[in-house]
Amino acid sequence: MRADSETIEPGKADVLARGCSSPIKTATGVWVRCGSRIKSKCASCAELYRGDWAAIARSGVFDGPVERYRFYLLTLTAPSFGRVHRVPRSGPAPRCGCGSAHSAADAALRGVPLDPAQYDYAGQVAWNRDAGVLWDRTRRRLRDRWDSLEYFIVREWQDRGVLHVHAIVRVARVEAPPAERLRDAARTATAVSKVDGSVVEWGAQAQCDAFRADGDGAKTIWYLSKALNYVLKDVATDAGEVPVEVWRHQVALGDAARRMRCSGVCEPQNCSSLVHKRFGSRSQVVSASRRTKHRPGWSFTGLTRTVQRRLRREWWESQQSGAGDASPTVAPAPLEGLAARSRRELVARGWAAP
Ligand SMILES: [Zn+2]
Ligand SMILES: [Zn+2]
Ligand SMILES: [Zn+2]
Repeated sequence: MRADSETIEPGKADVLARGCSSPIKTATGVWVRCGSRIKSKCASCAELYRGDWAAIARSGVFDGPVERYRFYLLTLTAPSFGRVHRVPRSGPAPRCGCGSAHSAADAALRGVPLDPAQYDYAGQVAWNRDAGVLWDRTRRRLRDRWDSLEYFIVREWQDRGVLHVHAIVRVARVEAPPAERLRDAARTATAVSKVDGSVVEWGAQAQCDAFRADGDGAKTIWYLSKALNYVLKDVATDAGEVPVEVWRHQVALGDAARRMRCSGVCEPQNCSSLVHKRFGSRSQVVSASRRTKHRPGWSFTGLTRTVQRRLRREWWESQQSGAGDASPTVAPAPLEGLAARSRRELVARGWAAP
């Protein structure tokens, strides 16, 4: 995001950063957006981020010959690092490992270990660190079996402070497998940690649902919406008031992440990598498979965030040359259209499947 500062000429960025609650002034005196994707930090940048990704997600489903593909919503989880309290968001809960049946009122215990003394904090932050390598092995394995496979992936924080993965996967119908086969192939993929050589695996819990994008539009939108609702969730440490048990858990995870080596050459006491502050996580929250010489990539139209930023800038510059110094306040028409369409269809949906 900051790369924008190199290409925006002085005097122009003030409009490009408009709406941002904490724009950054670069060395050349140019104002650029803070680029935050966390709503509580900057609603404007977070909304832009979400809108951009919503448009990309959508363009991999609807902007191509959908009848030739099968789609899947794949969820992969981390292994267990010790038992945690199970507290529902609403409604009745199964009995928790601590013996009680929690209600939503017990939110202070959500994701907190039953026995902190036995909990594998180091294992958990190391798993977060290696989750990117594991996904890399997983997608390669899937493509070895189904060559036409493309994906859009969202990484979400679970309450216990570990990442899990939601992917929208697209496979050509001529080779599309049943959902269970795709799920099992993904779940049983393994990787070797580049840092400590240990084997990295997914947890036992995995889910995969198949859907078609032609004919059943409402259901498709619901799946997309479900995946995208994770995009702008604030990470655990950005929550406002943190109950003391949750806070203790986060401190223990933070400690473990501080002591962990983030790379083969890392000296934790001297390392300033953000990985040590993010419970071991290094991966981007959202990403999509890229276009290459041999592959279309996720977006049928080649839409990426770089393309979206370029279109916004070009539009703004064309406005400047044509309309004197009139200050434009709306986004580029094609992008605005895309974003509005995505928002309309993806945001205001409930959680019940149609
Ligand atoms: Zn901002
Ligand atoms: Zn409990
Ligand atoms: Zn480090």
